[in-house]
Amino acid sequence: MSEGKKYVYGFEEGDGQNKMLLGGKGANLCEMTQIGLNVPPGFTITTEACLTYLDNPDRELPAGVMDQVREQMRNVEANTGKTFGGSENPLLVSVRSGSAMSMPGMMDTILNLGLNATTLKGVIAQTGNERFAYDSYRRFVQLFGKVALGVPDEAFDAEFEDVKKKAGVKQDLGLSARDLHEIADRFLDVVERETGRSFPDDPMEQLEIAVKAVFNSWMGKRAVDYRREFKITPDMANGTAVNVQTMVFGNMGNDSATGVGFTRDAGTGENVMYGEYLTNAQGEDVVAGIRTPKPVAMLADEMPEQYKGLVALRNKLESHYREVQDYEYTIEKGRLFCLQTRNGKMNATALVRTSVEMVREGLINKEQALLRIQPEMLEQLLFPQLDPSVTATPMARGLPASPGAAIGHAVFDADRAEVLGRGGQRVILVREETKPEDIHGFFASQGILTSRGGKTSHAAVVARGMGKPCVAGAEGIHVDVQMRKAFVGGATISEGDLITIDGTSGDVYLGEVAMKEAEFSAELDTLLGWADEFAQLEVMANADTPDDAARAVEFGAKGIGLCRTERMFNAVERLPLVVEMILAENTGDRQAALDKLLPIQRGDFKGMLKAMAGKPVTVRLLDPPIHEFLPSEHQLEEELEQLVHLRETVAGMNVLSDAVEFMYRTADTHPSVDRLADPRLVDEAIEKKETMLRKVRALSEVNPMLGHRGVRLGITFPEIYSMQIRAVLEAAAECTREGLDVYPEIMVPQVCTKQELLAVKRIVDSVKQAVETHYGVEVNFKFGSMLEVARACMRAESMAEVAEFFSFGTNDLTQATFSFSREDAENKFLPLYNEAGILQDNPFEVLDVKGVGKIMELAVGWGRTTRAGMKMGICGEHGGHPASIGFCHRIGLTYVSCSGPRVPVARLAAAHAALTDDTAHAGAQSV
Ligand code: ADP
Ligand code: MG
Ligand code: MG
Repeated sequence: MSEGKKYVYGFEEGDGQNKMLLGGKGANLCEMTQIGLNVPPGFTITTEACLTYLDNPDRELPAGVMDQVREQMRNVEANTGKTFGGSENPLLVSVRSGSAMSMPGMMDTILNLGLNATTLKGVIAQTGNERFAYDSYRRFVQLFGKVALGVPDEAFDAEFEDVKKKAGVKQDLGLSARDLHEIADRFLDVVERETGRSFPDDPMEQLEIAVKAVFNSWMGKRAVDYRREFKITPDMANGTAVNVQTMVFGNMGNDSATGVGFTRDAGTGENVMYGEYLTNAQGEDVVAGIRTPKPVAMLADEMPEQYKGLVALRNKLESHYREVQDYEYTIEKGRLFCLQTRNGKMNATALVRTSVEMVREGLINKEQALLRIQPEMLEQLLFPQLDPSVTATPMARGLPASPGAAIGHAVFDADRAEVLGRGGQRVILVREETKPEDIHGFFASQGILTSRGGKTSHAAVVARGMGKPCVAGAEGIHVDVQMRKAFVGGATISEGDLITIDGTSGDVYLGEVAMKEAEFSAELDTLLGWADEFAQLEVMANADTPDDAARAVEFGAKGIGLCRTERMFNAVERLPLVVEMILAENTGDRQAALDKLLPIQRGDFKGMLKAMAGKPVTVRLLDPPIHEFLPSEHQLEEELEQLVHLRETVAGMNVLSDAVEFMYRTADTHPSVDRLADPRLVDEAIEKKETMLRKVRALSEVNPMLGHRGVRLGITFPEIYSMQIRAVLEAAAECTREGLDVYPEIMVPQVCTKQELLAVKRIVDSVKQAVETHYGVEVNFKFGSMLEVARACMRAESMAEVAEFFSFGTNDLTQATFSFSREDAENKFLPLYNEAGILQDNPFEVLDVKGVGKIMELAVGWGRTTRAGMKMGICGEHGGHPASIGFCHRIGLTYVSCSGPRVPVARLAAAHAALTDDTAHAGAQSV
């Protein structure tokens, strides 16, 4: 039916851009041929032929394919002066697979196809090298037998060893032409024995079998597994092409060689010749590692002419492809041939450097420089990494909860971490799980390791916020805090032992593994500067302390998009004040506690505003339910029990002390018994704990996430929000008086209705007046709302009457949209949902564009109906995720906010979003 279809393209006619049809290797062979590089002649059979063949239940090649192959073969013969199957000057070919995506899962390349008894004679006559001929032949029979006919290597190996033994040689190189001849004969027998058919002698038949084998390998287990693993879908690569190419020989003597090269240094990106070669060797030998290859610089001495040719080849490849190339070449008797090229895979360092340098060299423009780097890749540069050249075996594995690697001495509680950390030691805090009261331990540690909890556990979230590496939920580790030890399989980590954690992979190592420091290079800075030129979205950072804020500026943040004030409550010297505030039985007592917190918060805000002078700082008023600041009910009950026991012990000891005194009062010397603590102290402690327990019980909620938190707390305890608002505005007033340019923004969390916003606005207005009067300066600030409740999104039009800006809290909004909580989802059913294909991704990691995104898009439109060009952003974790950033760009958000160390990733992603947006969003420009 598809009789007239063209299935086979000569290298001089195939479309070098059409990788889907010709495969990457085939398209590039065509392209290189057409730009005049010295490519051994050949042709490509299309992926279309492959798919049609695989569809045919009889496994026949589509009609016309072999005819077209024969026709192309005649061309090649004409080009080379050789004859396929000829006895004088025989044409030998390689058969190489290649799909649109580079895929090591497919068939191995067959070299020297076309050899048989007749052509062999020709090769011997031509080269005068019988040994070379038989060696090539026996290699071909084995390779063809294995990859095209499925004969196991062992069958060949047995014969090979047998001949070697008979000949009395140890090394393959010791085998004579006669030995190799015998091996080839035996191999032919092996094939016949194993397949029940004699080895195909006819070169055209060999070729047809090989082509079918390549096509079949597309559906082979290796290839199918590979595509699944790397999520290669049919629209990325569909079917494999086959490349049939004239053999050239790098193993024809010392004027021959074979090598692989990179047009720049693959590790550093430096613009130098880079690669390795072997003299007198054939293709695979370089990669196979049988002989140690030599650095390409040596070729300059060994074969100066050819080296010059290689430099020219490299320059031509780069100036044509305008991308770093990874290429293969062979020198046959002094003639240089290019066998393959493809875009080079590089690490982030090399990608960044080559991007910047290629722009400076005029090879590419800034847009291309930005687009050739996947934003996620930058992570490698922003955190310390384990040295990739070092191989160490992890002792345990957990979840990669916060990227980067860290080395330190294991400690099992936060206090100890703080003491040692302050003393200048590198420590890693190892816990079963962490709690807010462990926070001081985080500050002192290089990294955190927990044996329980997921990527959203306290440890993970806090560590990410601080940019510290964290491995969470390493369940293979049993932590015993009492013994100050952790047990892993048979091994033990004792306090003080050095361990290394890799928060990028989740691996944990005993001892010290070599690391590479983060490198925010001048080139990265340049590149991100270009990114900012193109991006429409501004990138802000989430930061809770002045230090975090300062670091965010270094990463290029345009402001703070989210400052979580509750994080500021968590420091050691503050927690007691917060507890006092919570335990207060009346407004007066609460106010007293708040009065002590006010200067502390004001100081924090001032620090943040100063660090960010000239840029906005968005402060979110207290969000979590307040019982989160108290110990758990269970813990309090246990402590109370211990105190009650202690009360009896103390009383008992005091009785004993009195009694001893009395019994020995007449003696000259007498034993004395120490009086323990004053029992009243114990009573006092008991009373305090009981009050706390009562409060914890009173505050306990059935559904804390949906309970008394956020603005609801601010309305029931207005004095709390009032204090925070005052702290922000006073900090701003003081900065203004110092001549600083500050832009505070007050943001209200968990809002459902405009009325809630109005209630807080009233507090804001009255505090503003008081502060301005007191300081005698005008305070400029914005008042806005989080959008993280479905209702608020639906009422965006009315909310925008009060709010001057919106910030989508997509963590809560995702929970609200799906009506399931992140913790329960991730621990219980989400993995199954993903596996069963019910949900494609984890919506807490990848923004659910269709659902949550739809709500956002609607809210953006409605909000801007009321307030044209209204400032809107996202501050959930999704704000640092490149795909989500693309979406935020498309719906016209003003900014994204993410954790400080992710800011560079987000800046590049924002540029990508703008550069790949062909609709050039009207909404975004009207802002
Ligand atoms: P891969 O996809 O694994 O790179 P290739 O098709 O590039 O496989 O081939 C494997 C090896 O065989 C390479 O080293 C290549 O240089 C060599 N090779 C392939 N075709 C020829 C040829 N026509 N002449 C000489 N060597 C070849
Ligand atoms: Mg190759
Ligand atoms: Mg929230």
